[in-house]
Amino acid sequence: MSTKRRILLIEDEPHIALGLKDALEFEGFAVMHTARGLEGVAVARAERPDCVILDIMLPDLNGYKVCEELRRLDAQVPIIMLTARSQESDKIRGLDAGADDYVTKPFSVNELVARIRAIFRRAARATGAPETFRIGDAEVNLTTQTVTRGDKSEPLSFYETELLRLLHGKTGAPVSREEILTKVWGLEATPTNRTVDNFVVKLRKKIEDAPDKPIHILTVYGTGYKLAL
Ligand code: CA
Repeated sequence: MSTKRRILLIEDEPHIALGLKDALEFEGFAVMHTARGLEGVAVARAERPDCVILDIMLPDLNGYKVCEELRRLDAQVPIIMLTARSQESDKIRGLDAGADDYVTKPFSVNELVARIRAIFRRAARATGAPETFRIGDAEVNLTTQTVTRGDKSEPLSFYETELLRLLHGKTGAPVSREEILTKVWGLEATPTNRTVDNFVVKLRKKIEDAPDKPIHILTVYGTGYKLAL
Protein backbone atom coordinates (compact mmCIF):
# COMPACT_ATOMS: atom_id res chain seq x y z
CA MET A 1 0.00 0.00 0.00
CA SER A 2 1.33 3.41 -0.91
CA THR A 3 2.12 5.70 1.97
CA LYS A 4 2.60 8.71 -0.23
CA ARG A 5 0.98 11.91 0.99
CA ARG A 6 -1.88 12.76 -1.34
CA ILE A 7 -2.26 16.30 -2.58
CA LEU A 8 -5.29 17.65 -4.42
CA LEU A 9 -4.34 20.43 -6.85
CA ILE A 10 -7.21 22.62 -8.09
CA GLU A 11 -5.78 24.90 -10.78
CA ASP A 12 -7.08 25.73 -14.24
CA GLU A 13 -3.96 27.21 -15.84
CA PRO A 14 -2.45 24.22 -17.67
CA HIS A 15 1.21 25.26 -17.55
CA ILE A 16 1.09 26.05 -13.81
CA ALA A 17 -0.85 22.86 -13.05
CA LEU A 18 1.49 20.67 -15.08
CA GLY A 19 4.63 22.27 -13.64
CA LEU A 20 3.34 21.90 -10.09
CA LYS A 21 2.16 18.35 -10.59
CA ASP A 22 5.57 17.32 -11.97
CA ALA A 23 7.44 19.09 -9.18
CA LEU A 24 5.26 17.63 -6.42
CA GLU A 25 5.45 14.12 -7.85
CA PHE A 26 9.21 14.48 -8.11
CA GLU A 27 9.19 15.35 -4.39
CA GLY A 28 7.40 12.08 -3.66
CA PHE A 29 3.80 13.23 -3.31
CA ALA A 30 0.82 11.66 -5.06
CA VAL A 31 -1.04 14.40 -6.94
CA MET A 32 -4.68 14.51 -8.00
CA HIS A 33 -5.40 17.39 -10.35
CA THR A 34 -8.60 19.07 -11.43
CA ALA A 35 -9.09 22.34 -13.32
CA ARG A 36 -12.55 23.12 -11.95
CA GLY A 37 -13.81 24.06 -8.50
CA LEU A 38 -16.91 21.89 -8.31
CA GLU A 39 -14.97 18.88 -9.53
CA GLY A 40 -12.32 19.65 -6.92
CA VAL A 41 -14.93 19.53 -4.16
CA ALA A 42 -16.20 16.21 -5.53
CA VAL A 43 -12.69 14.75 -5.67
CA ALA A 44 -12.01 15.94 -2.10
CA ARG A 45 -15.22 14.27 -0.93
CA ALA A 46 -14.32 10.98 -2.61
CA GLU A 47 -10.57 10.87 -2.04
CA ARG A 48 -9.96 12.74 1.25
CA PRO A 49 -6.60 14.26 0.30
CA ASP A 50 -3.94 15.11 2.91
CA CYS A 51 -3.51 18.64 1.59
CA VAL A 52 -5.26 20.90 -0.95
CA ILE A 53 -3.61 23.49 -3.17
CA LEU A 54 -6.32 25.78 -4.45
CA ASP A 55 -6.24 28.50 -7.09
CA ILE A 56 -8.56 31.47 -6.49
CA MET A 57 -9.45 32.28 -10.10
CA LEU A 58 -11.27 29.22 -11.43
CA PRO A 59 -13.66 29.03 -14.39
CA ASP A 60 -16.74 27.83 -12.52
CA LEU A 61 -16.65 28.45 -8.78
CA ASN A 62 -14.15 30.91 -7.29
CA GLY A 63 -11.54 29.63 -4.88
CA TYR A 64 -13.12 31.25 -1.83
CA LYS A 65 -16.35 29.34 -2.41
CA VAL A 66 -14.43 26.15 -3.08
CA CYS A 67 -12.52 26.70 0.15
CA GLU A 68 -15.74 27.07 2.14
CA GLU A 69 -17.09 23.86 0.61
CA LEU A 70 -13.85 22.01 1.38
CA ARG A 71 -14.01 23.24 4.98
CA ARG A 72 -17.55 21.92 5.31
CA LEU A 73 -16.29 18.51 4.20
CA ASP A 74 -13.18 18.48 6.36
CA ALA A 75 -12.43 21.04 9.06
CA GLN A 76 -8.79 20.07 9.33
CA VAL A 77 -7.25 19.37 5.93
CA PRO A 78 -4.52 21.96 5.26
CA ILE A 79 -5.54 24.28 2.41
CA ILE A 80 -3.00 26.49 0.64
CA MET A 81 -4.45 29.10 -1.73
CA LEU A 82 -2.70 30.31 -4.85
CA THR A 83 -3.49 33.93 -5.50
CA ALA A 84 -2.50 36.24 -8.32
CA ARG A 85 -3.47 39.16 -6.15
CA SER A 86 -1.30 40.70 -3.54
CA GLN A 87 -3.83 42.89 -1.76
CA GLU A 88 -4.08 42.15 1.94
CA SER A 89 -7.90 42.12 1.75
CA ASP A 90 -7.85 39.19 -0.67
CA LYS A 91 -5.57 37.24 1.63
CA ILE A 92 -7.79 37.95 4.61
CA ARG A 93 -10.79 36.86 2.58
CA GLY A 94 -9.01 33.59 1.82
CA LEU A 95 -8.13 33.03 5.45
CA ASP A 96 -11.71 33.87 6.44
CA ALA A 97 -12.96 31.27 3.95
CA GLY A 98 -10.92 28.70 5.82
CA ALA A 99 -7.56 28.62 4.05
CA ASP A 100 -4.50 27.94 6.18
CA ASP A 101 -1.95 29.60 4.00
CA TYR A 102 -1.50 31.30 0.67
CA VAL A 103 1.22 31.96 -1.83
CA THR A 104 1.08 34.83 -4.29
CA LYS A 105 1.71 34.19 -7.97
CA PRO A 106 4.27 34.15 -9.38
CA PHE A 107 5.62 31.88 -6.68
CA SER A 108 8.62 29.61 -6.44
CA VAL A 109 7.78 25.94 -6.62
CA ASN A 110 10.51 25.32 -4.06
CA GLU A 111 8.81 27.64 -1.60
CA LEU A 112 5.48 25.93 -2.06
CA VAL A 113 7.08 22.50 -1.61
CA ALA A 114 8.81 23.75 1.54
CA ARG A 115 5.46 24.91 2.94
CA ILE A 116 3.83 21.58 2.17
CA ARG A 117 6.71 19.68 3.75
CA ALA A 118 6.49 21.86 6.86
CA ILE A 119 2.75 21.13 7.12
CA PHE A 120 3.31 17.38 6.91
CA ARG A 121 6.26 17.44 9.33
CA ARG A 122 4.15 19.11 11.97
CA ALA A 123 1.14 16.92 11.24
CA ALA A 124 3.35 13.86 11.83
CA ARG A 125 4.71 15.31 15.06
CA ALA A 126 1.20 16.11 16.25
CA THR A 127 0.06 12.50 16.25
CA GLY A 128 0.42 10.79 19.61
CA ALA A 129 -1.22 11.03 23.00
CA PRO A 130 -4.21 13.33 23.16
CA GLU A 131 -3.02 16.79 24.08
CA THR A 132 -5.62 18.88 25.85
CA PHE A 133 -5.49 21.98 28.03
CA ARG A 134 -7.78 24.73 29.23
CA ILE A 135 -7.65 28.38 28.35
CA GLY A 136 -10.18 30.11 30.58
CA ASP A 137 -13.42 28.22 30.02
CA ALA A 138 -12.27 26.82 26.68
CA GLU A 139 -11.04 23.24 26.40
CA VAL A 140 -8.45 22.96 23.64
CA ASN A 141 -7.72 19.55 22.11
CA LEU A 142 -4.66 19.66 19.86
CA THR A 143 -5.16 16.08 18.74
CA THR A 144 -8.72 16.42 17.47
CA GLN A 145 -8.08 20.09 16.54
CA THR A 146 -11.11 21.37 18.38
CA VAL A 147 -11.94 24.01 20.95
CA THR A 148 -14.95 23.43 23.18
CA ARG A 149 -16.73 26.01 25.29
CA GLY A 150 -19.79 24.82 27.18
CA ASP A 151 -21.68 22.61 24.75
CA LYS A 152 -20.27 24.33 21.65
CA SER A 153 -17.35 22.73 19.82
CA GLU A 154 -15.48 24.42 16.99
CA PRO A 155 -12.81 23.03 14.68
CA LEU A 156 -9.32 24.52 14.63
CA SER A 157 -7.46 24.70 11.35
CA PHE A 158 -3.96 23.31 11.04
CA TYR A 159 -2.17 26.62 11.67
CA GLU A 160 -4.56 27.68 14.44
CA THR A 161 -3.72 24.43 16.22
CA GLU A 162 0.03 24.87 15.76
CA LEU A 163 -0.12 28.50 16.92
CA LEU A 164 -1.93 27.45 20.10
CA ARG A 165 0.57 24.63 20.64
CA LEU A 166 3.46 27.10 20.49
CA LEU A 167 1.84 29.74 22.73
CA HIS A 168 0.76 27.11 25.26
CA GLY A 169 4.29 25.70 25.44
CA LYS A 170 5.44 29.15 26.54
CA THR A 171 2.46 30.19 28.64
CA GLY A 172 3.02 33.58 30.25
CA ALA A 173 6.08 34.41 28.17
CA PRO A 174 6.04 36.75 25.17
CA VAL A 175 6.50 35.00 21.83
CA SER A 176 7.66 37.19 18.95
CA ARG A 177 5.95 37.23 15.57
CA GLU A 178 9.24 36.14 14.02
CA GLU A 179 9.42 33.10 16.28
CA ILE A 180 5.79 32.27 15.48
CA LEU A 181 6.45 32.51 11.74
CA THR A 182 9.57 30.38 11.97
CA LYS A 183 8.12 27.69 14.21
CA VAL A 184 4.52 27.56 13.01
CA TRP A 185 4.88 28.41 9.34
CA GLY A 186 8.38 27.03 9.05
CA LEU A 187 9.75 29.79 6.86
CA GLU A 188 11.31 33.08 7.80
CA ALA A 189 10.61 35.14 4.70
CA THR A 190 6.91 34.68 4.10
CA PRO A 191 4.08 34.84 4.98
CA THR A 192 4.12 38.23 6.64
CA ASN A 193 3.65 39.32 10.22
CA ARG A 194 0.10 40.30 9.27
CA THR A 195 -0.66 36.63 8.76
CA VAL A 196 0.12 35.96 12.41
CA ASP A 197 -2.14 38.83 13.45
CA ASN A 198 -4.97 37.52 11.25
CA PHE A 199 -4.74 34.09 12.84
CA VAL A 200 -4.73 35.59 16.32
CA VAL A 201 -7.94 37.46 15.47
CA LYS A 202 -9.54 34.16 14.42
CA LEU A 203 -8.32 32.33 17.53
CA ARG A 204 -9.61 35.05 19.84
CA LYS A 205 -13.08 34.66 18.33
CA LYS A 206 -12.98 30.97 19.21
CA ILE A 207 -11.52 31.30 22.69
CA GLU A 208 -12.24 34.72 24.20
CA ASP A 209 -15.56 35.86 25.72
CA ALA A 210 -14.89 39.33 24.33
CA PRO A 211 -12.51 38.97 21.34
CA ASP A 212 -12.04 42.77 21.22
CA LYS A 213 -10.91 42.80 24.85
CA PRO A 214 -8.86 39.63 25.09
CA ILE A 215 -7.75 38.31 28.46
CA HIS A 216 -6.07 35.10 27.26
CA ILE A 217 -4.30 35.68 23.94
CA LEU A 218 -2.61 38.95 24.78
CA THR A 219 -0.79 41.38 22.51
CA VAL A 220 2.73 42.22 23.63
CA TYR A 221 3.30 45.56 21.95
CA GLY A 222 6.28 45.70 19.66
CA THR A 223 6.92 41.98 20.06
CA GLY A 224 4.12 39.55 19.48
CA TYR A 225 1.76 37.62 21.71
CA LYS A 226 1.56 35.70 24.95
CA LEU A 227 -0.92 33.27 26.40
CA ALA A 228 -2.54 33.66 29.81
CA LEU A 229 -4.60 30.66 30.89
CA1 CA B 1 -6.77 30.30 -12.43
